[in-house]
Amino acid sequence: MISPDSTREPQSWGRYPKVKHTQVTPVYWRSEVPDLDGSGPSVLPHAYGRSYGDSCLNENGVSLDVSHLNRFISFDEETGLLCCEAGVSLAEILAVMVPRGWFLPVTPGTKFVSVGGAIANDIHWKNHHAGGTFGCHVERLKLLRSDGQRLTCSLTENPELFAATIGGLGLTGLILWAEFKLKRIVNPYIDVDHIRFSSLQEFFELTAEADQDFVYTVSWVDLLVGGEALCRGIFTRGNHNQDPALARKPLKKHLPLAVPFDLPQFVLNTLTIKSFNELYYHKQLPKRLHRIESYDPFFYPLDGIHDWYRMYGRRGFLQYQFVVPFEGAREAMSDILGRIRRSGAGSFLTVLKEFGTVQSPGMLSFPRPGLTLALDFAYAGEKTLRLLDDLDAMVRHYDGAIYPAKDARMSAVIFQQFYPRWQEFAQYIDPHFSSSFWRRVSQKE
Ligand SMILES: Cc1cc2nc3c(=O)[nH]c(=O)nc-3n(C[C@H](O)[C@H](O)[C@H](O)COP(=O)(O)OP(=O)(O)OC[C@H]3O[C@@H](n4cnc5c(N)ncnc54)[C@H](O)[C@@H]3O)c2cc1C
Repeated sequence: MISPDSTREPQSWGRYPKVKHTQVTPVYWRSEVPDLDGSGPSVLPHAYGRSYGDSCLNENGVSLDVSHLNRFISFDEETGLLCCEAGVSLAEILAVMVPRGWFLPVTPGTKFVSVGGAIANDIHWKNHHAGGTFGCHVERLKLLRSDGQRLTCSLTENPELFAATIGGLGLTGLILWAEFKLKRIVNPYIDVDHIRFSSLQEFFELTAEADQDFVYTVSWVDLLVGGEALCRGIFTRGNHNQDPALARKPLKKHLPLAVPFDLPQFVLNTLTIKSFNELYYHKQLPKRLHRIESYDPFFYPLDGIHDWYRMYGRRGFLQYQFVVPFEGAREAMSDILGRIRRSGAGSFLTVLKEFGTVQSPGMLSFPRPGLTLALDFAYAGEKTLRLLDDLDAMVRHYDGAIYPAKDARMSAVIFQQFYPRWQEFAQYIDPHFSSSFWRRVSQKE
């Protein structure tokens, strides 16, 4: 049996939904993990709760706090192969490895995520077009199943379970450790261009131009401009700087800011978002700006503001990230952005990027070739849920999908259409593991 503990109530980053677990069980040692094969409630690993919705929550079940599995196991200086426990955070890896000239193969927009979480959501970001997802770089992992088996999984050993675990939402068992390759860097700096664009068409042109020559691309966008342009924004592209002299240049320390309390919800409204967008769009005077930036503000601008979810008030917020295939992307964006504009709901942080064609081994991985847009909506009850249901239908119409790591409400019908391999995946779910997300999306009609 799992011994009871109640150190903290697990939450997700969006603070929606708010659920109660029957208990929280910390896992300290990979050699002495709790006996998972109880007849009691189901279990789900929870690391740093940087998933936005309910994929890291297990209402009325047990939450396994895996953040204590935070030890490095081995590192091969020749090949860059790192083996570490699954609770090690990307921030810890960067702190140890960047000074030695190594960087993560793929990182999301926050470094406060665990290796286990990066695998379970098969995370992606600025280099998807060049490097694929995190799962593309995992060579092996050790999975503990509730019957006590400890299985090594890779492309050649237990390959089906490996494919199910990459992007497997924590449902195939407890990942104890993983092995993946870091990449060499000359110094911790990035050569960056920030380019203002005034329409979606211009975004497409900048993307096509940057794809071959830049490892990292992403755009901040303002959706509230409307009209033929559809959006405007700032396109950012970058490569690791190659000057050995910069390896000795000390990194600037940025004191983190914090949002000290939940702001009232009226603070973020269409008017304040419009004003912010106007200021942000014009923050650089020239259309093109070249800079050398240290890796931290380049990859993790939001990590500079602790607890920023509080900006959305006590009711929390919902992230919505979708992808639509390039073919038809302009029409899809026109429809989707039109619906958002008509709703009067503004998104404060909106990010646009193209996904490339690098295929992940993950059975349920979200990224697929196309255009992806991530938005934040303050939770305003039924109105917000209705808007997102409408967006689901449009994304479905354009043959796209939405990202489970950011979801808290999509219906079973829509999930099963977005992820046609879900039943094949379900065969590999550990019988004693479950999540609030999975119970919702796997319901049969
Ligand atoms: C500011 C911010 C920016 C973000 N940017 C991006 C982005 O650019 N790209 C992107 O892809 N995502 C992004 N995300 C989402 C985030 O990267 C993922 O949700 C990530 O999986 C969170 O990791 P975590 O360690 O906090 O795991 P949790 O959120 O605690 O858990 C996530 C999943 O991993 C499972 N899990 C965790 N540990 C284990 C383990 N040891 N064994 C088995 N399963 C496990 C859990 O059961 C759950 O299903 C962002 C999130 C935030 C808050």
